[in-house]
Amino acid sequence: MKLILLGAPGAGKGTVSKLLTALDGSVQISTGDILRGAVKDGTELGKKAQAFMKAGDLVPDDLIMGIMEERLQQPDCANGFLLDGFPRTIPQAEALEVLLDRLNIKLDAVVDLDVPREVLLDRLTTRRTCSNSDCQEIYNIKSKPPKVEGVCDKCGSPVIQRDDETEEAISKRLDTYNEKTAPLASFYEKQGKLMKVNSTSSDAVVAAIKQKLGM
Ligand code: AMP
Repeated sequence: MKLILLGAPGAGKGTVSKLLTALDGSVQISTGDILRGAVKDGTELGKKAQAFMKAGDLVPDDLIMGIMEERLQQPDCANGFLLDGFPRTIPQAEALEVLLDRLNIKLDAVVDLDVPREVLLDRLTTRRTCSNSDCQEIYNIKSKPPKVEGVCDKCGSPVIQRDDETEEAISKRLDTYNEKTAPLASFYEKQGKLMKVNSTSSDAVVAAIKQKLGM
């Protein structure tokens, strides 16, 4: 499947993507994960992106389009992909249309995960993430704690609170989402591609997507 997952930080894009990749071998492409990996590895991209990320601001569109242009041409995308956290602005969505046309790729749908702000805030402040940039497994201290406190079940690396998951940065990220990314829903609705899912359960979201795609 070839999907865009829209939804505020904490809406469950990452969790839903992981469930969907297990269905048909599509790959999850998370620009946030790619950027965090670059920051950790100290690459040029990471150095340019770091300050924006820490403040809860968006990284400039040209850096993001550079990442996506390269990523979408990698062979593992041939089985399908789930775009998690991209596009985030109307200019990114417009540039993606041009890129997909050029690569002769057609999207199946754009899924908008709609979750109330109180639920998002609660999820984000209790979220913890594996610090290993190749793993980045997500935990939640209330609903899905690691078996051993502070240690990733999958790879044994420390499980941490991301530095953009302080209350201040979270609030900024949600405001940035409402201002810059929420308008993408009507952008895709006008094209007849939008599927809005009102749900706080990732299993229900996956079931709705499977039904929509006839799987
Ligand atoms: P995420 O894990 O998707 O919430 O992304 C974490 C941070 O990475 C965001 O708050 C932004 O600073 C940056 N980021 C991720 N994806 C994008 C994107 N498509 N455009 C701009 N900035 C992004």
